[in-house]
Amino acid sequence: MEIYLDANATTPVLPQAKAAAIQAMVEDYGNPSSIHSTGLKARALIDGVRARAQRLLDTGAGQLLFVSGATEGIQTAVLSALHALRARREAGQAIGSQLLYGATEHKAVPEALKHWNAVLGLNLAIRAIPVDTQGRHDLEFLQREAPEAGLVCTMAANNETGVISDLTDIEAALNASGSSAFWMVDGVQALGKLVLRLSQTRIDYAPFSGHKLYAPKGIGLLYVRAGAPFTPLMAGGGQEGALRSGTENMSGIAALGAVLEALEDKEGKTFRSHAEMSGFRTRLAAALEQAFPGLVYNAPLAQSLPTTLNFSVPGLSSRLLQDLFDAADVRVSGGSACSAAKAAPSFVLQAMGLPDWQAAGAVRLSIGPAVDEAFITEACARIEACGESLRRNCMSPSDNLPTVGQGVSRFMLEGACCYVLADAASQRCVLIDPQPEQVSRLAQVLRCQNYPVTAVLSSDGAAAHGEARALLAAELPDLLAASAEVDALGWPLTQTELELGAKRLRRQLLEGGGQALLLSEGGQGQACCLAFVAPQHAQALGEQIGAQTLIAPPSDEAQLLASNVALERGEAVAASLLQLSGTQLQQFVDAHPDALLIDVREPYEQFLSQTPELAGVALQAMPLSRFLNAIPGWLAEQRPLLFFCRSGNRSRQAAQALARLGHSQAWTLSGGLALLPDAPVRAAAADPALLV
Ligand code: PLP
Repeated sequence: MEIYLDANATTPVLPQAKAAAIQAMVEDYGNPSSIHSTGLKARALIDGVRARAQRLLDTGAGQLLFVSGATEGIQTAVLSALHALRARREAGQAIGSQLLYGATEHKAVPEALKHWNAVLGLNLAIRAIPVDTQGRHDLEFLQREAPEAGLVCTMAANNETGVISDLTDIEAALNASGSSAFWMVDGVQALGKLVLRLSQTRIDYAPFSGHKLYAPKGIGLLYVRAGAPFTPLMAGGGQEGALRSGTENMSGIAALGAVLEALEDKEGKTFRSHAEMSGFRTRLAAALEQAFPGLVYNAPLAQSLPTTLNFSVPGLSSRLLQDLFDAADVRVSGGSACSAAKAAPSFVLQAMGLPDWQAAGAVRLSIGPAVDEAFITEACARIEACGESLRRNCMSPSDNLPTVGQGVSRFMLEGACCYVLADAASQRCVLIDPQPEQVSRLAQVLRCQNYPVTAVLSSDGAAAHGEARALLAAELPDLLAASAEVDALGWPLTQTELELGAKRLRRQLLEGGGQALLLSEGGQGQACCLAFVAPQHAQALGEQIGAQTLIAPPSDEAQLLASNVALERGEAVAASLLQLSGTQLQQFVDAHPDALLIDVREPYEQFLSQTPELAGVALQAMPLSRFLNAIPGWLAEQRPLLFFCRSGNRSRQAAQALARLGHSQAWTLSGGLALLPDAPVRAAAADPALLV
């Protein structure tokens, strides 16, 4: 069962809202502008829903329009205010020189300000109202700047952090400043969670969105204060009193009506009270703190919606945490926008002045007010399982030492690759190109595995690698001797080669600085099987490496995973990447009985959602971080390979890498496990392969 903890992004539709929408589509399908009985029924429905919304939001004499969602409501509000400002300016009145918005507003607000400011030719300055580290608006700034502002926009509650704005203090600051600015309050995240009495305030415009509160997407509301200027965004048939033309979204309005009815029914069982939601959040927070020791909250819980938790965990990226939760069938959201290789820090958390690691590593967990006790109990159990998976995989403090691993592991940081070479028999390891930001994670793994570190090497002598070496020596005094004499590249001065059990690591100094690190299976004379070097240097190594020797690059922005000399010299031709959809899976397996089906997710994900078989075939685990170990064998065998992961991104990388290296049967399962009809995912029992 999926545990959906991403309610600030959107919510499922309530059963009674679905029923009302279907009723409006199938039975009461009239056009409310028609004057016959079918139309009159539809008109009565709209009027009823509007009246309910007016009561709930206490809109007094103000207008309440049905719109397609908050983004449309925001456009309409901004257009209305800016159009009125232009008219005032044309009439010779002062309108101020700027438009103000809270630094943590949803992008729809600053983007709408920019857009309509340009379209209307107003050319006012657009400025962000700073927020403090708790996400609260700087009221002194507001009071100082408001007299020069034509429009002020401040959301009621933030979608990423849940921080609740102090609308009373904002209003007081506006009043004290003597400003006549219009005021828009984005109420999207407040609906159903906070009490809003709009007509009791000087708020001019307040947009809302149905899909954040169990109504379908495509329906929203816009409050406009009585007397506030209004310019329609859409002109046409004159619906909504000519304020918003276009035939009304009757199924959306009906569904929203059912949600508002449940909200108004205080005795009803649909929505939880504020106190109940706070109790749920306390339980979720306790589970998180137990699962992720060292976790920090990115906003004070006491000043946030009781439905939102935004946190970061030192040493664990947002991407990793999202993959972990998803593997446990728990849907959360990154507090930041992540591309495949790089995590862009959240602008909201940056505006709050939080450190970069917190802003880039944030995860948001949000519930809707319709969740119940059993749901929260299951959510807490899953969160605890995520913590257990990290402990088992040396990624979290634990007394429970796992057995040791073997081979090459890759740790990525914003496109840069750090490699750990480990040998179980001799219990030694070598690190190549660690970054200071990775030290706590690497130290955790090494401490947990208890492998002494033979050397911490740098491929190019970057200062960051030296810094990471010193930090590691401080963190792991018993595993890494700080005093060992090494050169600027970290190579021990007295050694010509480093032993890793039966394997040997040699180096070749490169012209212009840096070193190529060459791993071979055995002693003198053995050919190199894996070269840690930037591909452009591969040719310069000449005899040291053969055409098929794998090259592990120090950086991999393009997500190629590996290369070889023949490819770099242009002597080899890449095979094509082959793609398979979920519906072709059984056919593929029947046609390729010798195929290997390979799960490239990381061990901490596999632990949570071990997938024993797909289409009747037993699966192999080969996490992308351990890929280099398996490539030579797969290339030698040339058996059909079908890679899969959660969403199809990592499996595509894997298949692409194999195809580039000349494997003619490397397939990826497009869309990943997420798109399989009944993905055979179950709670894990067996231990997956360990990291190092
Ligand atoms: N404002 C806030 C605070 C939001 O969270 C969102 C949705 O993410 C929007 C505006 C945009 O809403 P809609 O999807 O209805 O256009």
